[in-house]
Amino acid sequence: MPLKANDPSRKSWIPVPADSDFPIQNIPFGVFLTRDDVITIGTRIGDHAIDLGALHQLGYFKDIPLTDDIFLQDSLNDFISDGKKTWRLVRNRISELFEQGNRELQDNEEHRGIVLFTMDEIEMQLPVQIGDYTDFYSSREHATNVGKMFRDPENALLPNWLHIPVGYHGRSSTIVPGGTPIRRPYGQTMPQGKDSPVFGPSGLVDFELEMAFITTDANAMGDPIPVTEAEDYIFGLVLFNDWSARDIQKWEYVPLGPFLAKNFASSISPWIITLDALEPFRVASPKQEPEPLPYLRHSGKNSFDIRLEVELTPEDGEPTTISRSNFKYLYWSMAQQLAHHTVNGCKVNSGDMMGSGTISGPTPDSYGSMLELAWQGTRPIRLKNGETRKAIEDNDTVTMRGYCLKNGLRIGFGEVSTKLLPALPPRKTK
Ligand code: MN
Repeated sequence: MPLKANDPSRKSWIPVPADSDFPIQNIPFGVFLTRDDVITIGTRIGDHAIDLGALHQLGYFKDIPLTDDIFLQDSLNDFISDGKKTWRLVRNRISELFEQGNRELQDNEEHRGIVLFTMDEIEMQLPVQIGDYTDFYSSREHATNVGKMFRDPENALLPNWLHIPVGYHGRSSTIVPGGTPIRRPYGQTMPQGKDSPVFGPSGLVDFELEMAFITTDANAMGDPIPVTEAEDYIFGLVLFNDWSARDIQKWEYVPLGPFLAKNFASSISPWIITLDALEPFRVASPKQEPEPLPYLRHSGKNSFDIRLEVELTPEDGEPTTISRSNFKYLYWSMAQQLAHHTVNGCKVNSGDMMGSGTISGPTPDSYGSMLELAWQGTRPIRLKNGETRKAIEDNDTVTMRGYCLKNGLRIGFGEVSTKLLPALPPRKTK
């Protein structure tokens, strides 16, 4: 099916500011609360959100086989379950309806008033009910940097890393949309030079610059997804800040990997950008040497050129950009991650989320975590207001942005911006 929605010459009758992440070629999917406190599935063009539930009720999707309430839901899970063909039909129809030559809705003032909202009239929600969440570890630069700091500089990359898209199962219960403040977590740490652990607020809260993909129902239990088909089961991508407490992590992670250092909070950007919308920005992944096992082999362009940046804003201070990275640096592709995830027969459901792992680039200004940027505290980051940082401090706000840009076409993710609040006072024990 042609991706008519991707036609770069299309313009919308909805105004789109210069440098907007959301031209008519994007057509992301999200869930929001309207000015009337109704929850609905929607899309966005420029600075307007579009209520797809209302559009469907008004008959604008009548030629597409959709259940009546498919968009009148508090998550995209059922729509994502409908599969790639339906996603494409809906994106193409939205593109047609909002294209400047189309008068159907443009000339219907009453309908326009029902389906269109300005962004300040709505409140974005989590776009999917995330059943399971897996976090990979797919940036070679990040894995090497962490190996150097936490283990052995001579053997930074563990022997399995170049053969397996390494990952772990996380928790979905504490994944929140950007804009939701989080709290500094408590936990157990082993202070430097001590021989017994202490309990208290983490002193080393960090961000992880990641992206995450959302899947559809992909397989029955027992059926692996071939690497060459894996992308058919990926709905789209979001920005993902996988908050981490490095002091808790360092003490707890051997032998079974991260646990409480990671699951106190993770933040995602609220609009899911479809893989279809990213199609014009395909690039090759880094060359893989040694060649992976046959079930992980694929050819062609399996990654995307997505520019990423991280900004840190102290309380009452101006923002400082502290990292610039790119999704294309990832060593393992999403297709390889999903093929590996299911090769043992593990079932993947609609609305599952797979994090990429921290996306670090080759240069020190492209590292995707404070741990690496400040190199375990030895090279503090200087902010514009003169302060320095080795970790995220109370009331700091971390903002991540991502966008693709090619031949004047910009498709972006918006942002995920989160404030770290101080730890709650300790609870009194009875
Ligand atoms: Mn992570």
